[in-house]
Amino acid sequence: MKPKLIPCLALVLSGILIGGSTSVMSADLKVSSDFPGGSAKVLKLDRASNLIHITPACDPKLGYPCWWYFRLDNVDTGNPVVLVVTANQGVVQSGDKPRKLPADYSLPEYAAYSTDGTNWEHTARGERQGSQSIYRINTASSTLWLAWGPPFTLKDADQLIQKTCDLCPYAKSFVLANTRGGRPVPGVRISQPGATDGPRFSVWIQARQHAWESGSSWVARGFAEWLVSNDPAAESLRAKADIVIIPIMDVDSVETGQGGKEQLPHDPDGDWGSDPYFPEVAAGMEKLSALAKADRLDLFLDLHNPGYSARDIDFYLPAVPLLFPARVANDDNFLKIVQEQMTGAIKFNGRIGPDGKTYDPVVDKSVDTWTAAQCQSHTISFTMEIPWNISAATQDGYLKVGAQLGRSIDLYLQPAIRSGSKK
Ligand SMILES: [Zn+2]
Repeated sequence: MKPKLIPCLALVLSGILIGGSTSVMSADLKVSSDFPGGSAKVLKLDRASNLIHITPACDPKLGYPCWWYFRLDNVDTGNPVVLVVTANQGVVQSGDKPRKLPADYSLPEYAAYSTDGTNWEHTARGERQGSQSIYRINTASSTLWLAWGPPFTLKDADQLIQKTCDLCPYAKSFVLANTRGGRPVPGVRISQPGATDGPRFSVWIQARQHAWESGSSWVARGFAEWLVSNDPAAESLRAKADIVIIPIMDVDSVETGQGGKEQLPHDPDGDWGSDPYFPEVAAGMEKLSALAKADRLDLFLDLHNPGYSARDIDFYLPAVPLLFPARVANDDNFLKIVQEQMTGAIKFNGRIGPDGKTYDPVVDKSVDTWTAAQCQSHTISFTMEIPWNISAATQDGYLKVGAQLGRSIDLYLQPAIRSGSKK
């Protein structure tokens, strides 16, 4: 139990008596990052200029060390907050060869801030000075949350799934696996029984194999919220398809505020092979294999945020030897629909990432290629990269992309796509 302060002592602690009136001096600026997803190493705090200087606290051995997210208390609301971020250019060990992470990854053109820890907006454009960016925020709130991008943690995934189940009687939550760190990887399956006489389709959408790419979870959320809405296209999709959504794959890296991509011993998206290291990957392989063996998978999507210079959406296709004629025809059809649907501030202009020209399952262990290799040739499997370093890449911008993705999938899933289903 806390002792009660007697009034005179409270005055002494919270302010200074000057000439009979009380001038309340606010306490010192305080940075906290000891919560799920938090990451910040404080380099300087200056009360007089409302200045906070941090760098991401990530360990480069645990992935791209670019993610930062913290709470700031006792802000002087009379002056702009000045946030200086120095990039973490720690050496990333995994991948092709060890290399310093470019500063641009830690320094988004626009940072994210929130006055309630839930609703996020962009700051004004940061002023870039070499390996630092300066973000200025005017606020009437004495508490601020500041981050690289809108955070999305395990709690957000749980809340999204609960809300999806509350709104849709055919939605059921499940735990894909428990991670190496003992955390659940939650998912939701929406399956409306006997809703159509035509072919029944199956869709799997997962996000966040790379923890720093928080925008991908927001797109998954936008898709889930749209799917259980009363948009006629959402009703149409629910009536003809069983859909799995996993908002966060690498829950451990998300919760511990690490970057995840190219972590040691290897990238989660290089784990889809004969001996998976991550329990959530092993569980995903088991469930997707079962769907593939029963010829019950039509569309697989792995959602990501791309490199810092990307301005539009990109799709990556499986390795060229897996691009059978039926798959190519369905790929083209889907991408044409997406291009027509995603014409807003975050758009797909038809650009496809480079393919692997050869396919060796011992070497190429990315999920899009692994999934394509398990499935019949009518199944399409993509990595979708949604840009983060543009003004439109806000919480709302990502949610819109999720809804556009839903409408695209509804338009795509027509009976004809199952023709020519044998490899
Ligand atoms: Zn990624």
